[in-house]
Amino acid sequence: MRMPPFTLHTPDNLAKALALASELDNFDWVAGGTDLLPNYKWHLNPKPNVISLAKVNELTALSGTVVGAMVRIHDLANSEDAHPLIRETAATIASVMIRRSATVGGNICLDTRCYWFNQTEEWRRSIDWCHKCDCDTGADCRVIPNQNTLCVATYQADLAAAFIALDATIHLASGAGARSMPFAEFFQLDGMTRNVLKTGELVTHVTLPEDAKNWQGAYQKLRLRETWDFPEAGVAAAWKLEGGKITGLRVATTGCESIPGDHSEMAASAIEEWSGKDSIRELSEGVRKAVKPVSNTYFPPAYRRKMLRVLTRRALAPLEHL
Ligand SMILES: Cc1cc2nc3c(=O)[nH]c(=O)nc-3n(C[C@H](O)[C@H](O)[C@H](O)COP(=O)(O)OP(=O)(O)OC[C@H]3O[C@@H](n4cnc5c(N)ncnc54)[C@H](O)[C@@H]3O)c2cc1C
Ligand code: SF4
Repeated sequence: MRMPPFTLHTPDNLAKALALASELDNFDWVAGGTDLLPNYKWHLNPKPNVISLAKVNELTALSGTVVGAMVRIHDLANSEDAHPLIRETAATIASVMIRRSATVGGNICLDTRCYWFNQTEEWRRSIDWCHKCDCDTGADCRVIPNQNTLCVATYQADLAAAFIALDATIHLASGAGARSMPFAEFFQLDGMTRNVLKTGELVTHVTLPEDAKNWQGAYQKLRLRETWDFPEAGVAAAWKLEGGKITGLRVATTGCESIPGDHSEMAASAIEEWSGKDSIRELSEGVRKAVKPVSNTYFPPAYRRKMLRVLTRRALAPLEHL
């Protein structure tokens, strides 16, 4: 399909990018373009203006506790400085080629996905559209009809689960200033709104607590083809061991609902009376019950829920004998 026309803006620093964003009222940010540009080609809500972040060097910081929005996923996966759980998760994203262009900010802000939406314009026209891209027809949601206010498209990005498990903070900036929040609070339970970003605002970076280096972790993911597919379910777990005991445990999920899930309260109460395999079994079942996927990605919801239990168990396997 042909790319719809748009004007590309290429500011070379953050101040210019934010100033441009204040001037233009209808635009998208583009980072690596591995999600936005395929969506544009399929005419999924394209905008007349696109602001590229490719030359904004202020967004490329990378250390054990700071990850800039314009860090490439490939560089993150191969960095000696990045936290091992973040590295491990980054290495599972898409394919080698996509990881070389894809960025952390683009991954965090990935558009939600649904098999009624991620299709060509001709295909969607043939079914009279859906609510998320209704072409002014007022079309309904095809997954949960007759409510027409909410889109339940699925958030299928991997990094969010790892950042939540490590208790990260996300940092945003706009012409009005900067603000920060716990990572899980960035997301909004609607496949169209997706997150709390206001018009003209962008993600600048993510920080991990100083203590993150004392936490270990694991990421487990279900996907159709191991070589490049989006997560159909993903579980990140992070834990802290002191004197042979678990003194901290956090669990987060992705790929199943319109936002990633934070199950850290459940995980924290599990370690109060930890008993190895039994606790892992209980916690895995708790995660399965807490997450409610709908039927809009490749695998059926019941299978994805069952796999959440399996993935949680696999992620927590190193804690079996504690
Ligand atoms: C075949 C294929 C397989 C894939 N597999 C996976 C996978 O396994 N796991 C996975 O997580 N993803 C996967 N992806 C999705 C995507 O490639 C990655 O998530 C990638 O990290 C997106 O980054 P990007 O820089 O290319 O984003 P872009 O396409 O540039 O942007 C994506 C969205 O984020 C917004 N955005 C970008 N940067 C910022 C910022 N700093 N602040 C605010 N908004 C911003 C854009 O406006 C856009 O809405 C896959 C994609 C393809 C095509
Ligand atoms: S969940 Fe509903 S509104 Fe959202 S993309 Fe799918 S069909 Fe469209």
